[in-house]
Amino acid sequence: MSKEAALRAEMVSLSGSLFERGYVHGTAGNVSARIGDTILMSPTRSSLGRFSAETLSLVTLEGAHIGGAPPTKEAGLHLGIYRERPDAGAVVHLHATFSTALSCLADTDPEDAMPPITPYLLMRVGRVPLVPYHLPGSDALAEAVRAKARDHRAVLMANHGFVVAGRTFSDAVANAEEFEENAKLLFILRGCKINVLGAGDIAALHMMREG
Ligand code: ZN
Repeated sequence: MSKEAALRAEMVSLSGSLFERGYVHGTAGNVSARIGDTILMSPTRSSLGRFSAETLSLVTLEGAHIGGAPPTKEAGLHLGIYRERPDAGAVVHLHATFSTALSCLADTDPEDAMPPITPYLLMRVGRVPLVPYHLPGSDALAEAVRAKARDHRAVLMANHGFVVAGRTFSDAVANAEEFEENAKLLFILRGCKINVLGAGDIAALHMMREG
């Protein structure tokens, strides 16, 4: 099996797993992965649980559609991240329940939308900024996320959901799962007095992630 065929199969399998486990619903959410100088993307109006390897859309980094079905209308969101992050091999965008609920809270800190309550989000993703609400699929939303992407692996989008990059497709999916898990914990602990990690603990985790 060629490298591209293996990647296509992995995208179908792991996206289906996200759908089966309730991380996405209906046709919400979209995924992409880098293959050479091009990007494989989930097709527009498709369910992450139901697209096939053959219908995956192929686009250039500039957004030209060169194969498969037309790409997701949130293609610009993905492409901005690839342009800013040469290390990004894949991008996952979800409207997962707890993360999306977090994006709707009026008191979420835009500089640090995910307080570090366990080491795991910091180890996989790092600090997470929140960008203001923009129309889904709009250039304004893609630009707001792109502006944060160089310094952040994940971005929370107000009243919408989140987007996260990874080195590989399976890495990006694991990052997305950790993101949603952390959002869930934040809701379970809402109203409780929380011990957040200290500055020294956080610095040690950053060194571990970068090392
Ligand atoms: Zn979306």
